[in-house]
Amino acid sequence: MLVPRLNNLRAMDTEAIVIRIKTPSGDMDSSVDYPSLLNFNDLLVAIRDVMPEATVTAFEYEDEVGDRITVRSDEELKAMLSYYFNTMHEQRMNGLLPDPLQIFPRAGKTPGIRNIHGLKVNTRPNPGNDCTHTVPDSIANNSLKKSSAELKRILTNGQINAQDIHYQEQLGHGNGGTVYKAYHVIGNRVLAVKVIPLDITVELQKQIMSELEILYKCDSPYIITFFSAFFVENRISICTEFMDGGSLDVFKRIPEHVLGRIAVAVVKGLTYLWSLKILHRDVKPSNMLVNTRGQVKLCDFGVSTQLVNSIAKTYVGTNAYMAPERISGEQYGIHADVWSVGISFMELALGMFPYPQIQKNQGSLMPLQLLQCIVDEDPPDLPVGQFSEKFVHFITQCMRRHPKERPAPNNLMEHSFIIQYDDGNAEVVSMWVCCCLEERRAQQAQGRV
Ligand code: ATP
Ligand code: MG
Repeated sequence: MLVPRLNNLRAMDTEAIVIRIKTPSGDMDSSVDYPSLLNFNDLLVAIRDVMPEATVTAFEYEDEVGDRITVRSDEELKAMLSYYFNTMHEQRMNGLLPDPLQIFPRAGKTPGIRNIHGLKVNTRPNPGNDCTHTVPDSIANNSLKKSSAELKRILTNGQINAQDIHYQEQLGHGNGGTVYKAYHVIGNRVLAVKVIPLDITVELQKQIMSELEILYKCDSPYIITFFSAFFVENRISICTEFMDGGSLDVFKRIPEHVLGRIAVAVVKGLTYLWSLKILHRDVKPSNMLVNTRGQVKLCDFGVSTQLVNSIAKTYVGTNAYMAPERISGEQYGIHADVWSVGISFMELALGMFPYPQIQKNQGSLMPLQLLQCIVDEDPPDLPVGQFSEKFVHFITQCMRRHPKERPAPNNLMEHSFIIQYDDGNAEVVSMWVCCCLEERRAQQAQGRV
């Protein structure tokens, strides 16, 4: 058995798990009784025992779409375990036996497998083990690969059917509709499904579906993956990737070093959309999503004019994150998204909306008159002394009253605040998300939330 050394035992992950080390010559299962005590070096030592001839310095695991994520540190290991516990939980909720946690050592030479002293080895292959698959590995692995390829094909072709979706909890309610966490039975994956009631003609429904086509082409790590959309009666359901950290509006004040990494992702996401000639049009904290892997992704950008118009007919009000030129009904472009980045990050840094006279109680839609101060007054500044000069400058530039004075896409990417935090360090965000979620869970357990 792996002997863990960390001592941050937490209630959520005290249960034993099975780690399957995937090597070129076969699989090695080992059970870990206290995963929260496991550290990166322990696991590396175990891997090197299985692959003595190879130089292993890291390993990888697969996310829900089959992308490989590298683990090189305790933090990344923690993020992997957190991701795995969520997946395991989902599988249980859906009456499935959890798959083992599969890891792929990064090695050059082909190893020989031998038994590991101290590792509790289950079976290999693994036909009838209760903890894992009930089919031999060779078959299970093939069918897994096949089903993941098949899944990708099905999903990217938009073949999610309403009857294959099992709704779980409600994640939130916005101005347009309600978002649910849901399980897609055929694809064996968790989704976020936004359901919007729309009383419109079949012609308009078709127009919306064709306008949403572009979402299939969006492929960026900073943009939420779109899987499918369909109408059932007078409701449209939009199925996207589920982000287990939720949206940024529910987090309290975010420290600058975390906010910096989030800003990098947001700027890259927007730059990607702009390169496709898509304006986001609804940049705000509730449309910035995070997960426990430290990824930050944008959602809810207005690709379908018809959908935006149809929703606007039901929900009256003006978005408080809109640039002054939009509030006053002038023409607008990329620079309006840049303003919204500025005001959003200012709010996230302060922990309150930057215009104190605007009370945003629920949602971001306000009567137009209340937002007049955004048009009339000089934009607010971040208080000096509490934030770095680079950050203050970034916000000030994004929130220049005149659109042309705000940074263009290239200038945004080249801003010193963005450059400073463009270090690919997802751990910082991952750790922060995990800590906040745990804090929230603890508060919920104490009945305070
Ligand atoms: P608006 O309707 O103006 O966009 P909003 O963004 O607050 O307002 P929704 O887009 O309906 O409202 O989203 C409601 C909530 O659902 C969000 O605040 C977020 O917490 C959650 N949510 C949305 N999409 C996802 C997702 N893909 N993964 C996880 N949570 C999500
Ligand atoms: Mg939203």
